[in-house]
Amino acid sequence: MMDNRSAIEAIEIAERATPLCPCGELTGATGRDGNVWLECVSLREEPKGGAIVRLLRAIVAPVHVQELIIDSVDQAA
Ligand SMILES: [Zn+2]
Repeated sequence: MMDNRSAIEAIEIAERATPLCPCGELTGATGRDGNVWLECVSLREEPKGGAIVRLLRAIVAPVHVQELIIDSVDQAA
């Protein structure tokens, strides 16, 4: 298992490397299924705006940042 200091460093490096999503929102670390991901904050929230706004956002920025920072399965080995 990765120690806390190494985990925090890995998260900080990932956040510095990719501070913004192509859609213009910030990125941030989030834990899911025992792993830590760097992802667009918009993926955590309910979509804002009406259907047309959401459709335009999907066309302009079809891919949000979503990178695995810490894979707990690999780190446990
Ligand atoms: Zn995004």
